[in-house]
Amino acid sequence: MIIDGLEISAAIRAECAAAAAAHLAAVGTPPGLAVILVGENPASVSYVTAKERACKETGIRSFALRLPADVPQSRLLAEIRRLNGDRAVHGILVQLPLPKHIDESEVIRAIAPEKDVDGFHPVSLGKLLLGEDTFVSCTPAGILEMLKRSGVETAGRHVVVVGRSNIVGKPVANLLLQKRANATVTVCHTGTPDLGRFTRQADILVVAAGRPGTVTADMVKPGAVVIDVGVNRVPDASKKSGFRLVGDVDFDGVAAVASRITPVPGGVGPMTIAMLLSNTVKSARQAAGL
Ligand code: NAP
Repeated sequence: MIIDGLEISAAIRAECAAAAAAHLAAVGTPPGLAVILVGENPASVSYVTAKERACKETGIRSFALRLPADVPQSRLLAEIRRLNGDRAVHGILVQLPLPKHIDESEVIRAIAPEKDVDGFHPVSLGKLLLGEDTFVSCTPAGILEMLKRSGVETAGRHVVVVGRSNIVGKPVANLLLQKRANATVTVCHTGTPDLGRFTRQADILVVAAGRPGTVTADMVKPGAVVIDVGVNRVPDASKKSGFRLVGDVDFDGVAAVASRITPVPGGVGPMTIAMLLSNTVKSARQAAGL
């Protein structure tokens, strides 16, 4: 059975729209999200456009900041400091990756933690590790929400996460081992010998490797729940764009073995945007003391 990220995210977006309208009614201004894009990487442009469109549809005001690819780091940091002090802005998002001459970690650290709706700031990640309330990065938060809203129990289950990045693997593993989720978690990476030996033990398998075909049917326990986080462009001459999007999981093969699976596109991707909206509304409510 497919876990439909479009349907679940639509419900979350409707809740965010109601909360944004309530915020506007109570405070007189809408929640605001600043979206910073440096350069014109086509994938980044399409992500940023989708995020801004989602804000508009939800009643969140978006502040678009477009900077050239050769912008000095000092200018970017100055813009972030300005937005940190702007009371109309409740969330600041810097679209990654940044051009090579810019130190990503310094840029993330410049964002005020109370406006870190992407959840990448060390303060947010530290609080997540401690189990404290914080902005949880949007993809991991979306995965947890997706499991919850599809009625997939995590407590007492063995979750295997493939990938240990700071934006997906590590935070999702940490969320799942919190008492609230109460899963037993195994994290795999390129140093894991015989990946299939681990993935076959998973009741819930979360794959965030960034490589198509990382998980095939023989690597999945019958009846497992499979969450495919990967978004990979593969050449496809039949498409106008010349490519199509696939996940990290061999969908057709694995769907025949798994009890539930997320598609790509239409799975985790839309959840990520929904959680960004949710974090922005949360930040606005906190700033207003609601
Ligand atoms: P990343 O930073 O490249 O990290 C990939 C992780 O997977 C690394 O920890 C790497 O191990 C591990 N890995 C790669 N190949 C592996 C293999 N064959 N076996 C075991 N482990 C392997 O990627 P990311 O930022 O986490 O993103 C992962 C994927 O999710 C990408 O396709 C990305 O586009 C997608 N993504 C989607 C969304 C969404 O909204 N749907 C959001 C974020 C990311 P090492 O640490 O040992 O190198």
